[in-house]
Amino acid sequence: MSSAACIFCKIVKGDIPSLKLFESDKVLAFLDINPLSRGHALVIPKHHGEKLTDIPDDALTEILPVVKKLVKASGAENYNVLQNNGRIAHQEVDHVHFHMIPKPNAEEGMSIGWPQQ
Ligand code: IMP
Repeated sequence: MSSAACIFCKIVKGDIPSLKLFESDKVLAFLDINPLSRGHALVIPKHHGEKLTDIPDDALTEILPVVKKLVKASGAENYNVLQNNGRIAHQEVDHVHFHMIPKPNAEEGMSIGWPQQ
């Protein structure tokens, strides 16, 4: 199932370009267009659903192992995994997505965090 107006469904279909990091039948991972840190990635179910509760369990089950692969590939020792549901919870794109945000090491001299309201 996909939604014609959904930007992430368009990325799944290839109608909008993305920097893909992983793809399977049910899951796609790509770089965030407005990264909070180098390597900020999004992992999405291909099935369109606005919130976590809209996604079938079999698709959800595949997502965390992909997040784990991306963490390992990034080499980050510190990272955030975030998943927002609803406007008050900072969700902007209404297609379920997990953020994987590597945190730069202290010696790199950067401090990037989740935006404050
Ligand atoms: P949310 O606030 O959890 O909904 O996060 C949505 C994320 O999607 C933001 O970090 C955006 O930068 C990202 N985003 C929006 N459009 C695109 C796109 O076309 N490609 C990649 N990332 C996108």
